Amino acid sequence: MTNSDESTNNITTMKALVFHGPNNLSLDDKPKPVIIQATDVIVRITTTTICGTDLHILKGDVPTIIDGRILGHEGVGIVEETGTNVLGFHKGDKVLISLITSCGNCSFCKKGMYSHCLSGGWILGNSIDGTQAEFVRIPFADNSLYLLPPDADDEAVVMLSCILPTGLECGTLNGHVKPGDIVAIIGAGPVGLAALLTSRLYSPAEIIMIDLDDNRLKVARLFGATQVVNSSDGKAVEKVLTLTQAAGVDVAIEAVGISATFDICQSIIAPGGHIANVGVHGKPVELHLEKLWASNITLTTRLVDAGTTSMLLKMIQSGRLDAKKLVSHRYELTDIMKAYDTFSNAAKEHAIKVVIRNTCTGEGNSKGNL
Ligand SMILES: [Zn+2]
Ligand SMILES: [Zn+2]
Repeated sequence: MTNSDESTNNITTMKALVFHGPNNLSLDDKPKPVIIQATDVIVRITTTTICGTDLHILKGDVPTIIDGRILGHEGVGIVEETGTNVLGFHKGDKVLISLITSCGNCSFCKKGMYSHCLSGGWILGNSIDGTQAEFVRIPFADNSLYLLPPDADDEAVVMLSCILPTGLECGTLNGHVKPGDIVAIIGAGPVGLAALLTSRLYSPAEIIMIDLDDNRLKVARLFGATQVVNSSDGKAVEKVLTLTQAAGVDVAIEAVGISATFDICQSIIAPGGHIANVGVHGKPVELHLEKLWASNITLTTRLVDAGTTSMLLKMIQSGRLDAKKLVSHRYELTDIMKAYDTFSNAAKEHAIKVVIRNTCTGEGNSKGNL
């Protein structure tokens, strides 16, 4: 295999991580995707990763996902083939895949709410096959891919497919983090840590990280948390109020998605503060309006639109945002089942983001062309 283009063009099947119902995943041979619409691009994946959402899918929390679906909505790769109406991308381009597919034309896309795109939104690894495979079909490629310089670091930029825009848009920006603010982030998983990294860009005075797991809190310290609170004793609220001289916090970012953590946010928010919900909630929470009605608080919810991806890419390229430090483990695509094991046992394995490299399709050969 001296020429990777020729070698990959002849491939008709590929390895892919396939969902077969709750708690049933396997690495299967699937047909290589083909162009369906003239606006599609086929990307050869070089790097992908596993999201907390994939674990929710695995547990059966997303019942719309069918048996046979290839999972994954994060990825970096090389353009393999372009539809006839694709203008901005060419074979051989290195690209970042956004978790959000956007048509660019519908009423939501026109408002910048790409997550609610009527023909797109979060469809990758959901209603269409995703990125945990050797190849993926990206619809509306001109709006859903980002061109990368050939020397971009895959491991750093793959953090822009999902978690960094989510932490920034749903947490930091919706929470209106400002210079001098006291920010509390509840949940030090990958998205909570992404909220931490992006909050720091807005110069808050304090960032208090709250989690049950001491190892994650240790990581949060390394990432710039000024205070950490272990909430396993049920005393997170008291501890935060002690740390803030009973004033509470200006911004509370909820990055877990359960009632208990939402309650912490409600109990520590200062008058005039912002509660920014990031967590995916499967059950109702109690909203304590009897306490909050006069507190001038703002409560926000949001699906990530990924409209900040270009900005975050510049921050990574300029060295202002060290996204690569979110990577804790690395696997080959052929070992993706082990990667799922590691990520499923994140506390025990000290896992943050588990990166998966695809070297099945001669990626080593193509490197010389970049
Ligand atoms: Zn995700
Ligand atoms: Zn749209």
